[in-house]
Amino acid sequence: MINIKGVSITEHASLKNLNTYKLDSHADYLIKVETTEGLIEVLKYLKKENIKYFILGAGSNIIIDEYFKGAIIKLTGLNKITIKDKTVTCESGAMMGSLSCATIDANLTGLEWAINIPGTVGGSIVGNAGAYKSEMFDTLISIKVLDEFLNIKELKKKDIKHAYRDTDLKRKNWIVLEATFVLEQGNKESSLELIEDRKERRKNTQPLDMPSAGSVFRNPEGDHAGRLIEASGLKGYKIGGAEVSKKHANFIVNTGNATSNDIKNLIKYVHTQVLEKFGIDLILEQEIIDWK
Ligand SMILES: Cc1cc2nc3c(=O)[nH]c(=O)nc-3n(C[C@H](O)[C@H](O)[C@H](O)COP(=O)(O)OP(=O)(O)OC[C@H]3O[C@@H](n4cnc5c(N)ncnc54)[C@H](O)[C@@H]3O)c2cc1C
Repeated sequence: MINIKGVSITEHASLKNLNTYKLDSHADYLIKVETTEGLIEVLKYLKKENIKYFILGAGSNIIIDEYFKGAIIKLTGLNKITIKDKTVTCESGAMMGSLSCATIDANLTGLEWAINIPGTVGGSIVGNAGAYKSEMFDTLISIKVLDEFLNIKELKKKDIKHAYRDTDLKRKNWIVLEATFVLEQGNKESSLELIEDRKERRKNTQPLDMPSAGSVFRNPEGDHAGRLIEASGLKGYKIGGAEVSKKHANFIVNTGNATSNDIKNLIKYVHTQVLEKFGIDLILEQEIIDWK
């Protein structure tokens, strides 16, 4: 493999600690980049050598297979957050919690909801993450992406199709590099009160002590996926090491040695049961990564 400044490469790397389901997966290469220039050099090399690659955020919304014959790229060093008045610019490798904390510290309001999302800003833009009736695109103004020809371009919010937990970025081979938000003047004390209350509620209702990737299905219009799954009698239902959480039915947890097939089979089973019982075709919120 190549030697590029600001880029570290591990061969036959374990991904177990890089996905929140803690699936025991490996890849030919794990490449951590510190700069956009380093990222571009890496991509040029991988394209020349015909090596497949996958951009990994915090791995908190994905189900990955056992082996990836290719390179996993982590934007480890791209995590700078800059705040000027009410404008916040954040590199895509930053964690949502860091972004949220930085804005609260600056007495800005609008991103408190993001504090408990265990993902990166890049992954959260691509999936339009959200909570408590707020979402990324509420305060987002523009993003910078690296397109398939390795050109950096700026996209305004209006240029990006987005919906509940979805954007057209999911279907494009672009890498989100940076995002700019405009927030409102807030008050640190009230923001801290708000997040404390929500943190407590999450702790009481979600299985945060077990590996998962958050909500499995999107909530259908006017209902909750968790309610439908629970009403189908599936709480605690298990396939291999994957279990429908006893605490929150829209979470699947890894009880220790779950494989991606256990999780995928359980998702299929839950989907079929809810469809048969309620006629509701639940849509997957998590992403099954096809590395073939
Ligand atoms: C306990 C728990 C609670 C959660 N609660 C919520 C919640 O309340 N609301 C919510 O919306 N989600 C929630 N999630 C799910 C998850 O945290 C979010 O979906 C998050 O936005 C995913 O970000 P990530 O960096 O982990 O993305 P990953 O899972 O790493 O990747 C997701 C997709 O984005 C792509 N991607 C990642 N970074 C980039 C980039 N820079 N450029 C282009 N593509 C990229 C990946 O290739 C992949 O296709 C929760 C998860 C857990 C484990």
